[in-house]
Amino acid sequence: MKYTPVQNYINGKFTAASTDKKLDVISPLDGTLLSTVPMSPAKDLDTEVKAAKAAFPGWSKTPIKERVQVFFRYKYLLEKHLQELGALVSEENGKTLGEAIAEVEKCIELTEFATSLPQLVTGEVLEVSRGVECRTEHVPLGVVASIVPFNFPSMVPNWTIPNAIALGNCMVMKPSEKVPLSVGRIAELLKEAGLPDGVFNVVHGDSEIVNAICDHPGIEAVSFVGSTKVAKIVYQRSTHNYKRCLALGGAKNHLMVLPDAKADMTAQNVAASMSGCAGQRCMAASAMVGVGNIDHIIDKICDEARKIVPGKNLGAVINKESQERIERYITEAEQQGAKILVDGRHTVVAGKEKGTYVGPTVIDHVTPGMSVATEEIFGPVISIMRTNTVDEALAIENANPYGNAASVFTQNGGMARYIIDHASAGMIGVNVGVPVPREPFSFGGWNDSKFGVGDITGKSSIEFWTKLKKSTTKWNPEAGVNWMS
Ligand code: NAD
Repeated sequence: MKYTPVQNYINGKFTAASTDKKLDVISPLDGTLLSTVPMSPAKDLDTEVKAAKAAFPGWSKTPIKERVQVFFRYKYLLEKHLQELGALVSEENGKTLGEAIAEVEKCIELTEFATSLPQLVTGEVLEVSRGVECRTEHVPLGVVASIVPFNFPSMVPNWTIPNAIALGNCMVMKPSEKVPLSVGRIAELLKEAGLPDGVFNVVHGDSEIVNAICDHPGIEAVSFVGSTKVAKIVYQRSTHNYKRCLALGGAKNHLMVLPDAKADMTAQNVAASMSGCAGQRCMAASAMVGVGNIDHIIDKICDEARKIVPGKNLGAVINKESQERIERYITEAEQQGAKILVDGRHTVVAGKEKGTYVGPTVIDHVTPGMSVATEEIFGPVISIMRTNTVDEALAIENANPYGNAASVFTQNGGMARYIIDHASAGMIGVNVGVPVPREPFSFGGWNDSKFGVGDITGKSSIEFWTKLKKSTTKWNPEAGVNWMS
């Protein structure tokens, strides 16, 4: 085993969970056993919440301009350890080293945003009547929880850590049991940056600990990122317990390609969007709707897909189960009459035979009823459908239950605007294959891709991680104003 067994992190110390139940952590790149991760029982959560609760009075009363100093230092530490963190992300998740380093660079950008929070939470004050002032302040919630998925072992945790903590909350994080290592390193760097013990805590486990988080009376708010199935469970259970909850779910992102699209640029973007991080991105292009004659663009997409080499510029998918699920989708589409133009099934990388790889796959002549057209595949696969008009393409996009992202490729500004107006998704790209808004703009989808109000990053996250205190003051009794009585 390459690393010591993973432990929980409580009050600034790595601490064994009170269980022998554990899972292996295996690198998807080559099957190496990296570590084990404990499946903490529900009772372990109490110790975590107690530690966070004890840290809250001191941390929340620390002025925000002081709190963000921790994140200036944390940002520097992320930069200093960029290569090391990138290597760890790649090892446990299976993405390429380049993709993993880009992921950590995104953590740096997220942290940079958090350092600007003092400028954004100054509150408001107004003299509403002679000598009478109304004022609003953003106040932290208390102990908050963040439950995260496997596909971005460092970035998704950093969607919540810097903002929630800089705004004065204390956190319990539940990493994905498939990729528990990066969060441990993040905890060490936060401590080195000067974060007081107890402000950030980590509990490892599966659905038992997630349910305990949703039920725990000491936790005020729950953020979740993962599949729609689990997002619905977490949203229902947390809000049933009167907590605020923001639960981001899965996706089926549609790219609409119009015949006037720049062929080379479109093909490069489509291939990169569907295959980046082995298609395991909630922003990946998964379905493409071609309007009119776009055969010349599809030819180029296939050329681009063939340049993507598993084990070189394409990483592994998370595990054998995922590999088999993705291959099953491709086979099913073939049996239903779709045409496999580029086939990534049965991929083996020489020297990494225990790795779990799927090659880039382009499926043409998909019809809207097929499972590859409607379900999230979460692999390097693009399903191409054909229509005659933009409205037919939009009808297909609108009918899908998700709503994370959609993109259009065209040179026609009017058409692009029409699609921005009519696509049913929270994030839209024009000639952009992965339309992730960068800070300070917030990230979040619609429909079955997100449950709850507001977005998880950027300015919108301020509303989720704080509550507003409204005060009304009157200091001039001589004015004789009898305010509101
Ligand atoms: P997942 O839903 O299986 O797991 C997410 C978290 O929930 C993990 O920490 C896991 O331990 C926990 N969990 C799993 N099953 C549970 C259950 N039955 N009850 C309670 N908790 C449970 O997701 P994943 O496979 O780790 O990640 C991939 C999914 O995440 C994809 O659907 C992807 O689209 C989605 N995702 C969405 C976004 C977004 O911004 N919308 C971002 C990243 C990933």
